[in-house]
Amino acid sequence: MSTQTKTFKTEVSQLLDLVIHSLYSNKEIFLRELISNASDAIDRARFEALSNSDLHEPEGGWKIKLVPDKDANTLTIVDNGIGMNEVELETNIGTIANSGTKAFLKQLKEAEAKDRPELIGQFGVGFYASFMVAEKVEILTRRAGETQAWHWTSTGDGTYEIEEAEREQHGTTITLHLRKEEDEDGSEDFTAEYKLREIVKKYSDYIAFPVVMDVKRSEKDEEASKEGEDPVYKDVIKEETLNSMKAIWTRPKSEVTDEEYQTFYKAAFHDWEDPRKIIHWSAEGTTEFKGLLFIPKKAPFDLFYNDEAKGLHLYVKRVFIMNDCKELIPGYLRFVKGVVDSADLSLNVSREILQNNPLVRRIGKNVVSKVLSTLKEMQENDTAAYEDFWQEFGKVVKEGMHTDFANKDKISHLLRFESSKTEAGKTVSLKDYLDRMQPDQKEIYYLTGESRAVVENSPLLEAFKARNLEVLFLTDTIDEWVIPALESYEEKPLKGIHRGDVNLDSEDEQKEKEAKLEEAKENYASVLEALKKGLGDKIKEVRFSKRLTDSAAVLVSDDSGIDANMERMMKAMGQVVPVAPRILELNPAHPVLGKLKSMVEANAEDPEITEYAELLRDQAVLTEGGDLENPARFAQQISKLMAK
Ligand code: ADP
Repeated sequence: MSTQTKTFKTEVSQLLDLVIHSLYSNKEIFLRELISNASDAIDRARFEALSNSDLHEPEGGWKIKLVPDKDANTLTIVDNGIGMNEVELETNIGTIANSGTKAFLKQLKEAEAKDRPELIGQFGVGFYASFMVAEKVEILTRRAGETQAWHWTSTGDGTYEIEEAEREQHGTTITLHLRKEEDEDGSEDFTAEYKLREIVKKYSDYIAFPVVMDVKRSEKDEEASKEGEDPVYKDVIKEETLNSMKAIWTRPKSEVTDEEYQTFYKAAFHDWEDPRKIIHWSAEGTTEFKGLLFIPKKAPFDLFYNDEAKGLHLYVKRVFIMNDCKELIPGYLRFVKGVVDSADLSLNVSREILQNNPLVRRIGKNVVSKVLSTLKEMQENDTAAYEDFWQEFGKVVKEGMHTDFANKDKISHLLRFESSKTEAGKTVSLKDYLDRMQPDQKEIYYLTGESRAVVENSPLLEAFKARNLEVLFLTDTIDEWVIPALESYEEKPLKGIHRGDVNLDSEDEQKEKEAKLEEAKENYASVLEALKKGLGDKIKEVRFSKRLTDSAAVLVSDDSGIDANMERMMKAMGQVVPVAPRILELNPAHPVLGKLKSMVEANAEDPEITEYAELLRDQAVLTEGGDLENPARFAQQISKLMAK
């Protein structure tokens, strides 16, 4: 039998380094992680046993055992779950099979020490948490269905050793060689029975399998105790179960306390904080199931790395079927965590069967409408909490507008946006918007852009502000997809104020403006022509505008064209952006026109006219938050102008 020394993948080494050197608080979560892994391993063994008659429930039942040894300063966690073979050991423990790892490590490095354990919990680097408390970790494991066992050791210093070994049964034994106790009061002694009881109760109470520990008790020795004399005591070893194993979702809502829900949530879904919202219901009728869902307070760091749903945990009559059942919840609700326990599904379902199962689809539908109606209620009854929720998850919910066509209408009631009448960071719902529309207003106005700062200062807003018209600020990238899906709300069409012609004026005002426009067209025809010539193909048209009051120029798109925000988004997604020349609109009342006119009259071929044309266009690009094609040239032109 030979021992092989191997090197961890770089990212594992980095992670271990961080775990060992920078985590100081809440070290006790290592146990939650290891128990959760053990419980998953038993779940998998049970599941495999359903279709493999060679695999049985072990004598004494499925269980997780804690073995503290004060003298050796070790803590051992034993499970009789699925175990691992050599390949699984190497891939599961030696690498991190997650695409978000780099981003996570970066975030972890930048985070404050106190926030790190929470991050670790979210990421599920579970097993590696053992190195917070152990200077050396041993794994002895045997895969169910195989005879060869494996022994793995590491001190977390970049390498691990692996060798053949023996283990009587399938399952995994993890031995932690604990670091020397740091606190004098013993609060860090992970071999103390009371401490282990406390940690298990706190984090792992609802684990579905018994977490047991052998304890020594003093009992009266019946044989040795003689009548009439003082009783004689002897030490006996008893197996104590540390967790309650109550499947909280099967109990009626009225019998579960808030605290029970919260403890369950934190333990089962590795969160540090209480959930923002608890949704517990029992569906009856065509599909019978129990659902217990949670909306977390904070978005996980990888909410946008992966737009797939992580899924809900699926049980059938309290028997665990699988984690992360994606069929039960769509991607745009991927922040929802929870459990579905069906009374109708067969225990023998596989992932493949689930994918096309009409029953599962029906449950999924029911789950979605429950979540959407809960959110609607929350917005109506507790707007402040809903706004907080929206800050965290609004962008994700918006995805539903184009991915869940059937529920588009319901989702539209959940939308919120910042606007020209909200403070930065505050939002309005579309209903709020309708409620405070001007009496004769027929459209819902919006403006898209990169950030609030950019849209707020857009010249396009001037005319709307002057008329006290509210304009929604659509500054999330996703908004470009929301708009086409939304089109209108309560029969009021949405109108982008950067698109096409916007007409805000009364008939008289219109007439007056038309007259001014005609006048300008006549007066400055030569200027328009010279500017158009100077800008060439890069501009579709140069024309006069009715929407400007202060600024000299603005860029607009025609109704169907790609606008600046869409262009930015397509670039960000690495797509080829079709060149769609835009329209440069000029303010007919701006003094710059007079200046240009005298230049054109003096010499229509003056190259400075082209420079002015470019400056006007570049200014318009800058005010909408765009990137100049040639910033250096812009700077030179400005300096030249200043020096005149
Ligand atoms: P996670 O549990 O989030 O996947 P871990 O680092 O805790 O991450 O574990 C990595 C993998 O190692 C697990 O997904 C599982 O495949 C395997 N593993 C860990 N502990 C056990 C165990 N007690 N029994 C069997 N497999 C385990």
